[in-house]
Amino acid sequence: MREASDVPWARLELAEGGRLEGTALRWGRGEPRTVVLAGLHGDETTGLYVLRRLVEDGLDGVLGTVDVLPVTNPLGLLMQRRDVPVGGGNLNRAFGGAAEGALCGATAEALLAFVRGATLVVDLHAWETPSCVVGVVHEVPPPGSRARAALAQMGCDYVWKVAGAAASGTLGERLAAEAVATFAMEYPPAWLCAPIDFERWARCLGRALRTHQDARPLPPMGGRLPVAAPAAGLFDPLVAVGERVKPGQHLARLVGAARLAETARVVASCAGIVMHLENRRFVQPGDVLAFVGTGDGGA
Ligand SMILES: [Zn+2]
Repeated sequence: MREASDVPWARLELAEGGRLEGTALRWGRGEPRTVVLAGLHGDETTGLYVLRRLVEDGLDGVLGTVDVLPVTNPLGLLMQRRDVPVGGGNLNRAFGGAAEGALCGATAEALLAFVRGATLVVDLHAWETPSCVVGVVHEVPPPGSRARAALAQMGCDYVWKVAGAAASGTLGERLAAEAVATFAMEYPPAWLCAPIDFERWARCLGRALRTHQDARPLPPMGGRLPVAAPAAGLFDPLVAVGERVKPGQHLARLVGAARLAETARVVASCAGIVMHLENRRFVQPGDVLAFVGTGDGGA
């Protein structure tokens, strides 16, 4: 296995003193250049476990150049925080121009400068609650494109075509505006995963980095709808993530804890796939209990 070379992507002077350095691990050479990054949100560690397996398996035979950035929010990772701890700010909302904190803004600028010119950028995230494996796109990658070939290999249960406020200021939105092919991945939280899950997703990513043609169809693709709690109660889901549901299907019940009696039923308003579920806990009226992916396009 060829060794990776280290390529710096950031050298940021902190106003508080000290310096922050970011390093990419580079394999291969030439075009196409694919950038895989993780940890814009410091507490989302699933991508790190996937990348660890990828590196362990080796990157022989990848197309062109592959740059892996395991740590994009170093202080967030260290402190297990979603935001950038010094100065604040959500790094994946800082690509729209104005960032909350100076370090957050400088990190976003350095990342953007590094990934510009890439053929494809893959950004690994994780949800906080049980979820299936979701690809996130701003634009549907055209047939025959590198992005489509790679996305089809990622093992997604669903592809969420994100728009509006959910996309605002994200790396994906910015890259789409600059015509850089990109997609993000949303995995289940690391604590809910088994070792075999990380191994499977690493194999998928490895195939995505080696695939020339989009031989596989894309999974179902479209928007998502929130399902809100109609009443307070103990959230007792009756479906699993990744399950297909029909309109009117009973998704969950809410149970009053004092008498252990059902207080309300939660019903699907449309057909779709259960993208993610709230944790099993006592919920309040209006709390979002699930998101259902409503699209069936793809292939
Ligand atoms: Zn995230």
